[in-house]
Amino acid sequence: MNAIKILSDYKMSRTNGRVKILEELLMTDVALSERELQTRLEGICDRATIYRTLKSLTSKGVIHKIATESTVAKFVIKKTPDDHIHFKCTDCGRIQCLTGIVPNNVKLPEGYIKKETNFLIIGICKECSENVQ
Ligand SMILES: [Zn+2]
Ligand SMILES: [Zn+2]
Repeated sequence: MNAIKILSDYKMSRTNGRVKILEELLMTDVALSERELQTRLEGICDRATIYRTLKSLTSKGVIHKIATESTVAKFVIKKTPDDHIHFKCTDCGRIQCLTGIVPNNVKLPEGYIKKETNFLIIGICKECSENVQ
């Protein structure tokens, strides 16, 4: 996967901001917040560009926004269109997509319409738990 290919797959025009943000997200498999992206892209993209770009990439479904238990949302490349679980490590603070684990089909009461599922499990990630031993 590379940023330019992703943009063409989603039929989005290639702007510098989109390419740079996607490249950052592709380099890591943990979710990044808007602020973390600002730090990484200091001098390359301004705040307004990052804000706008995250919004357009999210609305096209290229990346997705993970709600955390704090008010800061994190963004990550969307690897699967399916519902999956997110894991937040309390030690290192990283948030990852755990694809392949399909959350049980939650049945909503009548009259409720699902738009997306956002499961967040909080615990200790593999790397941190291995470091404990
Ligand atoms: Zn960890
Ligand atoms: Zn995810």
